[in-house]
Amino acid sequence: MGSGRRAQNVVASPVNAVRSGQYYGLTCVACRERFAVLNDSTKGDNPVKIVGSGYIHVTCPHCRADRLYELGDLKSLRQS
Ligand SMILES: [Zn+2]
Repeated sequence: MGSGRRAQNVVASPVNAVRSGQYYGLTCVACRERFAVLNDSTKGDNPVKIVGSGYIHVTCPHCRADRLYELGDLKSLRQS
């Protein structure tokens, strides 16, 4: 943990995210498919707060597009 508000890149592995229950997802800018990025183990009771500026670097599991997304683009989604 550093000081200040410098941006940090987060590398996520969508393949490790389980697309069920509550999760954080992104919509691919290339193919428009939605995919899970992070699991929300709290089931939505205590959502992770994403603060500051930063980018998340993910490869779309559908079209393999390798892109940077802003953390603010993450959406809390539910799949039952
Ligand atoms: Zn895609």
